[in-house]
Amino acid sequence: MDLGLNGKRALVCASSKGLGLGCARALAAEGVNLVMNARGVEALEASAAAIRNDFGVEVTAIAADITTEEGRARVLQAAGAVDILVNNAGGPPPGLWTDWERDDFIAALDANMLTPIALIKALVPGMMERGWGRVVNITSQAVKAPIPVLGLSNAARTGLTGYVAGTSRQIAASGVTINNLLPGLHDTDRAASLDKGASTEQGITMDEARAARQATIPARRYGTIEEFGATCAFLCSHHAGFIVGQNILLDGGGVNATL
Ligand code: NAP
Repeated sequence: MDLGLNGKRALVCASSKGLGLGCARALAAEGVNLVMNARGVEALEASAAAIRNDFGVEVTAIAADITTEEGRARVLQAAGAVDILVNNAGGPPPGLWTDWERDDFIAALDANMLTPIALIKALVPGMMERGWGRVVNITSQAVKAPIPVLGLSNAARTGLTGYVAGTSRQIAASGVTINNLLPGLHDTDRAASLDKGASTEQGITMDEARAARQATIPARRYGTIEEFGATCAFLCSHHAGFIVGQNILLDGGGVNATL
């Protein structure tokens, strides 16, 4: 299937590793030129070089913290006009509901709600003027089914989801879509760090922690970044123009719900 993306330009935030990298690689495979971002220079440059080498697309790599105003300004300046925006950032730390104070909530909201909103506000007007655009926000299955230890994430991502639900419908007639991808457990550094947390907390090995988490997923495995990236590329494709304001779960059946 030709996704109709050859020659488009995308900003993929937080994309040196994990799900963001999966999205960047899948878009590059379709001929999309990229602006990639992460805080750490080394992994970012290595991933950018691999993409240039594997797919022959143009890649601009900007090392910056996307959750800060200064970081976003540098990324946006390098990005210029883009056709596709993939919003992503690290997730908030786990904890207990009694741990979290106002500042913890503000940090989570900044990273996982207000940062994607700021980037949407900066880039969507240009897409609307040009009559075509795609925004994909990487959120979490926690939006559909709360993960109690990730209360900060549950809260911030649900806020973004509400914003997208309304905004996507306000702009849909312009040819720009905004949708959310909701990852369940995927095989990334983030998943490894959550496995480590479970292993320390429960006094079990990392392998045991991973096996226990995989057993909770009907597919009995973690998702891959390639599967995740392919879904992102389809949502960005010209075939997906009628998909507006949706929340698409990629979780191996982990959320036990009919709808
Ligand atoms: P990951 O493997 O740890 O990768 C995170 C990527 O984001 C790295 O490239 C990292 O590079 C970059 N990054 C993190 N914070 C950043 C910031 N402030 N500014 C710019 N770049 C930043 O994580 P992942 O598993 O792909 O997760 C991506 C998102 O999906 C997270 O929000 C996570 O909570 C959510 N999620 C993941 C899963 C899962 O199973 N993997 C499930 C549900 C939700 P630097 O560290 O160098 O900046």
